[in-house]
Amino acid sequence: MRKTLVLSTIIFLFFLSLQAQTYRDREIVCVEKDLETMKKLARMNLDLLMEKDGRIYIVAGPDDLANLNMENIPYRIELQDFYPLSQESLSIQSGVNGEFHSYAELEQELLELADAYPDLAKVEDIGDSLEQRNIYALKISDNVWAEEQEAAVIFLGCHHAREWISVEVPFLLGRYLAENYETNTEVRRLVNNCEIWIVPLVNPDGLEYSIHFYRYWRKNRRDNGDGTFGVDLNRNYGYKWGYDNEGSSSDPSSEVYRGPDSFTEPEILAVRDLFAQKSFQALISYHSYSQVILYPWGYTQAASDQDDLLSEIAQKMAALMEPVNGRYYYPDRAGASFYLTNGDTTDWSFGVYGIPSYTIELPPDSTLNGEFFNPESDILPIFNENLPAMLYLIDWSIQNHEFQTFHHMKRDRQRGSIESSRSN
Ligand SMILES: [Zn+2]
Repeated sequence: MRKTLVLSTIIFLFFLSLQAQTYRDREIVCVEKDLETMKKLARMNLDLLMEKDGRIYIVAGPDDLANLNMENIPYRIELQDFYPLSQESLSIQSGVNGEFHSYAELEQELLELADAYPDLAKVEDIGDSLEQRNIYALKISDNVWAEEQEAAVIFLGCHHAREWISVEVPFLLGRYLAENYETNTEVRRLVNNCEIWIVPLVNPDGLEYSIHFYRYWRKNRRDNGDGTFGVDLNRNYGYKWGYDNEGSSSDPSSEVYRGPDSFTEPEILAVRDLFAQKSFQALISYHSYSQVILYPWGYTQAASDQDDLLSEIAQKMAALMEPVNGRYYYPDRAGASFYLTNGDTTDWSFGVYGIPSYTIELPPDSTLNGEFFNPESDILPIFNENLPAMLYLIDWSIQNHEFQTFHHMKRDRQRGSIESSRSN
C-alpha cells in the first residue's frame, strides 16, 4: 500500500510536469514542500522540474511567478544554485549526450550493424521528420531481405525527445539479436521465426533539440504558427484522438498538445504506414520515467475486452525483469492507474489492430531518483533488465501467430480503409 502511495505521488508530480507550457523567459524557482502548498500548486498548471531535500523546483514564467505571489507561496529564485545542483545529481547536460545516441550517431551505428550482419539486419528509411531527418527502422530476421509469413513484433523508442534512454533500449535489442544469433540457440530460434522491427528514434528533431538547445524538450518541432513549437507525438495517433481535454490538450503551448487533427505529424505517419504494410502481433513503446508497464486503455479508466490477456502478459514481463537488477516494473492499465492519455501509440495499435500493446516507462521510478536524466551507467543495466521481457514478447508472438486469424481479418479491414484515405 505504501508503494501505491509513493507511486501515486510520483504520478501526480509527473502529471503536473506534463501540463508544462513552452519556455520563454523562464526562471527556476523553488518552494518548500508542504501539503498546503502542494494543493495550491496542483491547481496552477506548473512545470515541476524536480524535488530535492523537501523542496519543489519549478520552471516558472512571469505568469507563474505572479500566481505564486497571488497564492502567497514564498519562492526563491534558484538559477544560481540550480546548475551546480543539477551537475551533481544529473550526469548529462545539454550539448553533452555522452554514450547516449544523437541522431547522426544512431544512423551510423544502425548502418554499421546492417553492414556487419547483412543476412540478419536491414535498415529501412520509413519516412522523414519535419526537419527532413530519416525515421529509421531496423529489421532483424533470418532471410532479412525476404517477406516471410512469420510473426512480427515492433519496438519503438523516443516519441518524447528528452527520454534519451528510450532510444537505447530498443537499439540495443537489435544489436543483441544480431550479435548472439550464431552462438545462442534461443536467439536463433526467435530470429528464425519472427520479424523483429525496431524504430529506436521516432522523434529525431526533438532529440537533436534536446541535445543541443533544451534538455527538457518533449514534443516534435512543429511550428504551430502562434509562437509555440511542437506537437506531442504520443497524443497525435488516430484512435480516440482528442477524446477529451484531460488526456491531451488543444492548446499548442501545452506539453501534451495533440495537434490540429489526428496523424498530422510525419514522424508518426511513418509508424502508421509501417503498420499498414506489416502484420505485427505485439508492440512495446519505450518512454521514461516511472518504471512501470502500462497497457490499454489510456483514454478511459474502463477495461478493454482483452484486459485479462493484457494484464497477464504485463505481469509475466514484470516477473521476468525483476530478477535481473531487482527493479520491479509495476504493471497496470494505463487509464485506471495513471493519468489519462488520448491519441497515444498503444491505444491506437490495440484499438485498431487488436494486438497486445505496452508502454514501458523505463527507470528511474521517481523524480527524486533523477527523472529524465539517466546517467550513462544506467544504459546497460536498464537494457539488460528489459531484455527478458522483449524476448518473451517475441516468443509470445511466435506462439500465437497461428491463432490470430481474427486479428488479421480485422487488420486487413483497417488496412483497406487506411490506404483508401491516404492522400500523400
Ligand atoms: Zn514519454
